[in-house]
Amino acid sequence: MPELPEVEVTRRSIDEPLRDARVLGVRLGKPLRWPLGCAPEALVGARIGPVSRRGKYLWLPMLRATSDAGPPHGGLLMHLGMSGSLSLSLQARPAGKHDHFDLDTTQGLLRLTDPRRFGAVVWSPALDAAPAAGLLAALGAEPFDPALTSAAFHQALHLRRAPIKAVLLAGSVVVGAGNIYACEALFRAGIDPRLRSHLISRPRAARLLAALRETLAQALALGGSTLRDFRDAHGMDGQFQASASVYGRAGEPCPGCAAPIRRIVQSQRSTFFCAHCQRR
Ligand SMILES: [Zn+2]
Repeated sequence: MPELPEVEVTRRSIDEPLRDARVLGVRLGKPLRWPLGCAPEALVGARIGPVSRRGKYLWLPMLRATSDAGPPHGGLLMHLGMSGSLSLSLQARPAGKHDHFDLDTTQGLLRLTDPRRFGAVVWSPALDAAPAAGLLAALGAEPFDPALTSAAFHQALHLRRAPIKAVLLAGSVVVGAGNIYACEALFRAGIDPRLRSHLISRPRAARLLAALRETLAQALALGGSTLRDFRDAHGMDGQFQASASVYGRAGEPCPGCAAPIRRIVQSQRSTFFCAHCQRR
C-alpha cells in the first residue's frame, strides 16, 4: 500500500513538471473507488496549480480564467488506494488494462495505474468544501506540522486507551504512521507497541514524535519503501524496507541487543518489535 512518504515523493516528482500545464483531455478507465464527480470534458483548458498533499491525498488545483467555459476554480483530489501509482510521461502511451485515469496536459500525460481500483480521483470545488472536506475531516495532524508539538501529541495520546501501535495506525492523531513506519518509530523510541496510549508519559510521547519524524524523514530521503507496487512518478524504487531495524525481521537479532525480533498481530496487521529494547 502506498504510504505517506511514497505519496509525498510522488507529489514532489509531479509538482514542478505539471506546474501551469493546461489540461488537454481526460480519459477514464474502469470505475475507481468513487466517481469523478464532474464531466471529464469540463476539465479541458484548466491550468494546473501547485500540487499539495494532505495525509495520503494529493490535491491538483485546476485554475481557470473567468472567461473560460467549464467549472470554476477547483481541483482533483487523488488517492492511490491499495495499489495505485501515478506516472508522468512526455510521450503518449496506449492505456493498459490497469490504467484507469489519464490527465493529458500540455506538459505530459499524468496516469493513474491501479490494479485493485481502491484509488480515487474526485473533483471538488475546494479542499475545504464537499466532497474533499468530508474525505479529509478525520485525518490527524501532519507529522511535520510545527503546530504538532510534543505537548499536543501527548495530550492526544492521553485521550486514547487503545495500544499505541493501533493509535498510530489509525491516523486520527497523526497521519503518516503506516505499518512499517509505526513499527520502526516505536522501536526507535523504545516503546512497546502493546502499551496503552493513555499510559505514555510526556517525555516518551516527545521521543515517539521525534522518532516518527526521523523515520519518515529517512523514508522520504530514500524515496519511499519498496513494498508492493510503489513506483514514484519517475519509476524510482525506494529502499526503506531494506534499512528497517525490526519491520519484516521476525526471528532476526535485534540491532540494539541481539535478542530475536518478535512478530505479533495488532489491528489485523503484523507488528515487529524487540521485547527487550521496547518497554511498557
Ligand atoms: Zn533489542
